[in-house]
Amino acid sequence: MRTSISILFLAAEAEPFIKIGGLADVAGSLPLAMRALPNRKTGGILLDVALALPLHSVIRQDGLGLHLIMEYSIPHGSSSIPVQVFQTSLRGMPVYFFSGSLFSTGGKVYSGDPAEDRRKYTYFCLAVFEFLRRMDKPVDIVHANDWHTSLVLYALRSLPENDPRSQVRKVLSVHNLPYMGGDASDTLSAFGLLPVRDELLPKWALTQPLPLGLWSADAIIPVSPTYAREILTPEYGCDLDPFLRAHSDRITGILNGIDVDTWDPGRDEILNQKFNSHSMQMRSANKIALQKELELPVDHSIPLIISIGRVDWQKGLDLAYAALRQKIGYSWQFILLGTGDPVLESEARALQTEYPNRVRAVIRFDAGLSRRMYAGADLILMPSRYEPCGLAQMIAMRYGCLPLVRATGGLKDSVRDGETGFIFQDATNISLADGIQRALDLYSQPALWENSQRKAMNEDFSWQRSAQQYANIYLSLSPIQKSLI
Ligand code: ADP
Repeated sequence: MRTSISILFLAAEAEPFIKIGGLADVAGSLPLAMRALPNRKTGGILLDVALALPLHSVIRQDGLGLHLIMEYSIPHGSSSIPVQVFQTSLRGMPVYFFSGSLFSTGGKVYSGDPAEDRRKYTYFCLAVFEFLRRMDKPVDIVHANDWHTSLVLYALRSLPENDPRSQVRKVLSVHNLPYMGGDASDTLSAFGLLPVRDELLPKWALTQPLPLGLWSADAIIPVSPTYAREILTPEYGCDLDPFLRAHSDRITGILNGIDVDTWDPGRDEILNQKFNSHSMQMRSANKIALQKELELPVDHSIPLIISIGRVDWQKGLDLAYAALRQKIGYSWQFILLGTGDPVLESEARALQTEYPNRVRAVIRFDAGLSRRMYAGADLILMPSRYEPCGLAQMIAMRYGCLPLVRATGGLKDSVRDGETGFIFQDATNISLADGIQRALDLYSQPALWENSQRKAMNEDFSWQRSAQQYANIYLSLSPIQKSLI
């Protein structure tokens, strides 16, 4: 009798190999958390999870211990494109890297050229699809994440029943519904993927990778329970809501976790001063070090507000700039760390020029600085217009920085209003400014503020609970569990 289920987890990025955003945190930690689930939590079944990633040329290969395990070609138009598969391991988990000409040229994980990205990720998906046929041990479940890896599910669903891969069960996590990949009709036909028909999907969706992944998936997992409900509505459903409502029995929202070993202020070597919830008073050394690092006036009593993440309309940064201006009569400092939309970036720089003694706009990706900010700041703003899960608020809480978040998606599911942070309702600068006011009021009562910080730091955002929920879905899909129930 079989005692394990084999799962191939696919993503465009994963820590510690390459990180652009939250997906890398998830793909670098959830598969490991599922492998580590004790046997008693999975009915004695081992979840044998492996990770598959594109070998982007920005990934530094030295020290990764990659070895070539397979070479083959996949059809493309009237010719074919060669693929190399390399293997290494991450804390005992097999990691497969797929390489080939379409990864060597572009370099970046997301090039910014939608057509190039579609070609690259379709190629990756079909390389994985062929790998599934060639692997020694059959895979039971393929778990794709977002549009980049959705087409593996589509290719699997398009198989005739006599192909053994048609038995593979298909799971799709949705980290950001509006990012669907764009019109891939040219790429799909070049790679030999046939069109689909479905009356519940709008015509434009039939050639886009994410909708095709949703159409193919046995289980759809939006990354928080609230987002799972939101995408069923016209407001958040991006015109896929009729299809999603009709298939709501396949949808389960599961809140992401964070890797609590990597995100640990008690062991974070990059901090000026390590601390934990019992040594909160030591935290202010980090605030002072941060103010010095960014040449802000050094004063531990000034509320230090931050924003870390993609500078994007989704994240509501325009609301943040406006709300901060509204609260100019109060004492605060603001540091933004992020990159993205050039207009919003330059508005952040303009805010710094306007208030050089209060504002710093740090327009770059800087993992070390992000840690020093989580550890030194008092309040993080997350006024997202929508937020499937959001990790920054969880990381911030773990580092004793209280989140002020909009009541949407995973923000709503992870912050307790008035206890571990602050929640505001409307995506308007007025509503956000009211939230800032509430935070400033609490900040002026140090004992109450510290009490909230302690509660926030003691929240359990480890992957364990979510990994268990994912495991339950895998088990419900797998043929061996059917014999167990
Ligand atoms: P996203 O929608 O981008 O996935 P999340 O809040 O889920 O947003 O995750 C963002 C992750 O990326 C967090 O770990 C955050 O610390 C990190 N991050 C984002 N931008 C930057 C940056 N400019 N420098 C350092 N870390 C960043």
